[in-house]
Parts: sequence; structure tokens; C-alpha cells
Amino acid sequence: MDLGDRISVERDGTCYEGVIMPSRREGYVVIKLNNGYNIGLDAAKSRMQLVQKRQESLTMHKDRPLQKKEGLPQVSILSTGGTIASKVDYRTGAVTSQFSASEIISAIPELEEIANYRSRVIYQILSENMRAEYWIKLANSVAEEINEGAKGIIITHGTDTMMYTAAALSFMLKTPVPVVIVGSQRSSDRPSSDASMNAVCAATAAISDIAEVSIVMHGTTSDGYCSIHRGTRVRKMHTSRRDAFQSMNQQPLGKVDYLTRKIETFQAYRHRGEVDLEVTANLEPKCALVKYTPGSSPEILNYYIDKSYRGIVLEGTGLGHVASDWIAGIKRATEEGIPVVVTSQCLRGRICDLVYDTGRDMLAAGAIQGEDMLPEVALVKLMWLLANRPDEVRSLMRKPLSGEISYSTPITV
Ligand code: ASP
Repeated sequence: MDLGDRISVERDGTCYEGVIMPSRREGYVVIKLNNGYNIGLDAAKSRMQLVQKRQESLTMHKDRPLQKKEGLPQVSILSTGGTIASKVDYRTGAVTSQFSASEIISAIPELEEIANYRSRVIYQILSENMRAEYWIKLANSVAEEINEGAKGIIITHGTDTMMYTAAALSFMLKTPVPVVIVGSQRSSDRPSSDASMNAVCAATAAISDIAEVSIVMHGTTSDGYCSIHRGTRVRKMHTSRRDAFQSMNQQPLGKVDYLTRKIETFQAYRHRGEVDLEVTANLEPKCALVKYTPGSSPEILNYYIDKSYRGIVLEGTGLGHVASDWIAGIKRATEEGIPVVVTSQCLRGRICDLVYDTGRDMLAAGAIQGEDMLPEVALVKLMWLLANRPDEVRSLMRKPLSGEISYSTPITV
């Protein structure tokens, strides 16, 4: 039996089924189980049976010419990499980004019932390698596609930092068409992959009336529907579950039923054609998101000030606090023209620095309350404001520019 073959292994009365991976230990066979985890088994003590010879890829295959269908809207797919564009590399046992947007379309025939596609590879990276300059290139690429007549945009992206990209695009673009970011938690060659359902729901959202930057991913662990999350209100809340993405401090914009492809909305949203395309693709990359932990040194703030950072977002405790010995650092940063925005490690709820002495002292030192923004959204917004509207940072950080702040938070979210 060879790498990539599917086998069943019986050991001590338990039967495991999976795909053979490289093993570093002599005499041990390593298999990738259907749930994506690898186990190693002592080959001498196990009974192995071949279930299926290795297939190059179970679902993905090389580009084939796409059918152009009369009457379907034109959608552009921009690929950036991530698990949705990946398969297991049987040489290393790791998951690597290997597919372009057009290969993703070729592999999911249902997509062709929804729209006609034009595809472009922008990056082929895992999203932990994203950075501010890549967000800028992506925003400009989205704008080019809209100017070329795309009626909706799909961006395929790694899930780890998808919410940063969604927030960055939300501030950089005012869009007359939907811009939908989609990924998958499990690569397409795994039986439990969420790649096709997420892609089909993303395409459905891309031709809808919701002209906002959104993230479309599994809504539950089963295959019923995908949630459409506003790009400035969403967080990856689980490392591996298919329904890892959740809207924070707000209900999702809506959901797409996988079977019927009907969309139900739960929020007021910007409608198709409501605004003209506007691109303000500038970001100040020298901003930091600093998590305060009990007992951590106030020198941390001095480090960023001394290194000429232009803005700092603090992830404080509870309502938005740091220890008293950090307050001098907030004052110093503010006096040196470096805004310090306070968000909360709680993620849910709103900053209120008027309740306790610490908060009041932080405000007196110059801290800006980040309202009910997620820390990463506050970071990206600060990058955008510093690059585009530097004189208004203090006031605009507390006002909604792209749905990132609401003034009352329903108790149900
Ligand atoms: N590390 C991967 C990425 O963010 C994970 C994923 O795509 O789900 O690119």
C-alpha cells in the first residue's frame, strides 16, 4: 500500500479508516482520519486492508472550459489561497494551497448554475501571511472587476485571518455590488469538506441584493445553510468546526439555504446599486494591537512608542481596562500624537470606561473608547483612518463608518 491510499486498520478490536500519510517512525503507519486528525498505529499489531487506491484529488481537477450560460449574471472570483484552494500533500502530510479560482469553479459544477465567472489569482498563500499591502492590492483588484462589469465578487481566502481582510475591504471600498469572502475549514479532498457548500452559498450571496463586504461560511455543523456575516462584525470562534464563524454584537446579515438557495435577511443592509463604487485603498501599516494581561509590563507600550508606531489598539479587560501602571504609557502615547484605542478581550459587549476609576483615569490620559468594535476591526479601522483622515481619528473611531459600531447592542447577540 502507498501514500494516499485509503485503508482500514483494525487494532485491539477497533477499526479506523483513513488515508495513509508519511510516517517518521519505522514500523508505524500514520493515517488521516475522516475528521482530519492523524493517528499512528503499530503496523505489526494492526490488520490493514486497502479500501481505495489513491486518487489524485477526490474533488478538484484541472481546469476545464466553463460553460457560458445566457442570462446569468457575471461574477468575478479572486483567489488568494487558504484551505479552500488546498489539498493534502501526500509527500509531507500537510495541507497546502494549490488551486486557482478557475480550478475551484471547475471542481464545483453547481457554481455554473448560478453565474458566469471570470477568475483571477491574486495570491496563493495561507492567510496567516496576509498583510496590509496585500489588502490594498485586493481592494484595487475588486474595484477593477467591478469597473469591468462584475455584478458580484467572490474572494476565496484562508479562514484564519479572513475577518481582518473583510474589515480592511469594508473600510477601503464603498461597493454597489456584493463582495463575498469565502473559505473552508477542511480541504476539498476530505469527506467532511465544507468547500463546495460554502462556495455555492457564496455565489448565491454574490448575485443577491446585499451590496456589502461579507463573509459567507457554514451556519451550523450540518449542511443546512451558510450565514452571511457583515465584514466588520465577524470572528473565527473555533479552530476546526465548520461553523467557526460567528457575527459578534450583531445578528448575521442573513443566511443562504443550501438546498433552495433562498436568502433570508436579518439586518438592514446596503442594497445593490445604492452607492457608486468608491475606493480609498490606503492603510497605515505601523499600528499595533496589544493585549493587556495581568502583571504585564507597561514597558510594552513604551516599546511601540519608541519604535515610532502611529497607532495602538489595546485589548483591555472587561469594560476596557489595563492596570494603573499602564496609564502613564497611554498618556505618553497620546501626547506624542499616537492614538490609543481601547477594546475588550470579552469581544461581546461595549467599552465603558466611566464605570471604574481605572477607566476614568485611562480616559483622562487620552484613551479613545472603541465602543462595541472587535479588536481587529478597531485595528484595521485605525490603519485606515491614519492613512486617510488623520485629523479625525479621535472622533471617527467612535462613529460607524461601515457598520462596525452600533449604539445599542441587543441582548441576544
Ligand atoms: N491556515 C489556513 C489559512 O488561513 C486555514 C484555512 O484556510 O482555513 O489560510
